[in-house]
Amino acid sequence: MSKTFQQALQDGLFPVGTEIVAPRGVQCPAQSASLKLAKELLSDERVNYVSITDNPGGNPMLPPDWLAGQLADYAPNVIVHLACKDFNRAGLESQLWRYASEGFENVLVLTGDLPADGFPSQSGSVFDYDSVNLLSMMTAMNAGLPVKNRRGQPETLPRVNFFAGCAVNPFKYSENEFVPQLAKLLKKVKAGAKWVIPQLGYDMQRFKEVKLFLEQQGFNVPFIGNAFVLTKGIAKLIKSGKLAGCVVSDSLLADIEKYATGADKGKVFFKELAAKQIAVFRGLGFAGTHIGGIEKPETFFEIIDLSKTFENDWQTLYEEIQYRQQPAASARKKKHVSLFYRFSRLVHAAAFHRGHGLYPLIKRSYRFLESGKYRFLPSVLHGIEYHSKNVLYNCTDCGDCGLPDTAYLCPMNRCSKNQRNGPCGGSNNGRCEADDKPCIWTLAYDRLKCFNEWREFEDKPPIVYNAALKGTSAWANLYLDRDHSAADNG
Ligand code: SF4
Repeated sequence: MSKTFQQALQDGLFPVGTEIVAPRGVQCPAQSASLKLAKELLSDERVNYVSITDNPGGNPMLPPDWLAGQLADYAPNVIVHLACKDFNRAGLESQLWRYASEGFENVLVLTGDLPADGFPSQSGSVFDYDSVNLLSMMTAMNAGLPVKNRRGQPETLPRVNFFAGCAVNPFKYSENEFVPQLAKLLKKVKAGAKWVIPQLGYDMQRFKEVKLFLEQQGFNVPFIGNAFVLTKGIAKLIKSGKLAGCVVSDSLLADIEKYATGADKGKVFFKELAAKQIAVFRGLGFAGTHIGGIEKPETFFEIIDLSKTFENDWQTLYEEIQYRQQPAASARKKKHVSLFYRFSRLVHAAAFHRGHGLYPLIKRSYRFLESGKYRFLPSVLHGIEYHSKNVLYNCTDCGDCGLPDTAYLCPMNRCSKNQRNGPCGGSNNGRCEADDKPCIWTLAYDRLKCFNEWREFEDKPPIVYNAALKGTSAWANLYLDRDHSAADNG
């Protein structure tokens, strides 16, 4: 067996591996094509890992731990994906205990795609946690998770040893989409990501830029390159936006159309493109590589061997593989900050800014009101709060208000994944992955940048929504230190 994934990274051996997509429906282990591919690859010492997807593209498949469980002998060479879309935080924690108990420590943490399927109609999504929250929980589990036992007394659970990684999407070409991606990446690394894998794309300069960004921020975290063996069909699927976050530019699609008319239907071009990417990753000092789109072990090894023949030319290839998607004209337009946003800021500064303006007075009033003398008044105030915020901000009465953190754009209502710590990777030209609205984080960036407040957002500790507050007064929870902002202020 080859060196483990962790060991190969630590020893600077440029680990190589591939992604295995778990299938949908009952599988007989003896006949499963995914399992056969994973076993054949892992039994070869040139392969350091396989990485098993978690309901990719939002489709219900066998859970990754089914495949991982069949690969128990190779556990240190298996990466299990864990996305936040199908489980709440209790479900995610429970999955993690299972992974740790079965010896699976390498976990790729993802926010996850929006659901695309389900029986008999499309499934709803959860997104109780985002990737930053999940990484923070894993860091706490590694240190010994503090919990309460059945008698309500504090207890620390035994430590575990997760080696968590995260993803980043470098292929955003307007400032208000790219800078928030970098900020989210920084939050993930600060929360405990030990390695990073960028999304799928074909712009080597952007791969280099995200790596350099983290280094400049003082984080020398290993980056795994993401190479992919395309087909014309997959390229078209990506271009249609059906594989959120992956990017095939117009210029790459034009090249693909040209090569696909050849006798080999472009196979040589696709393999060479992946091999050239790997040569550039090595040249740029990436810590390893991932090769997606593999169906047969022979293709994997062919690409690895081919990549070695390109190694001396990596700088030329770096210039050659820069397939960029031009941002839409709307994304390049100068942004104006609305009067409504200015009004929201003024109200916040006057009454909701901890310790300032009317805040201390209102805090005392809420304390008095909740002392029980006028029992009906808190609910009357809650009614006024909810209806006014609903008219102004489409408030959903979550009870743990995120408006001040997201420049007065409600993350519970206007973001399809309720993201409070920065964007997911799925936006496209500033539009939400669901494509029904602008991504709130591009709008929030424009607003915060206009008042030089983006850095403040970047430096904020991770925000964790408290689900116990749903349906209660967010104002009372703020003034009486029950919401997430109380934790931010120590
Ligand atoms: S609004 Fe932005 S962060 Fe939220 S789901 Fe859509 S693309 Fe992702």
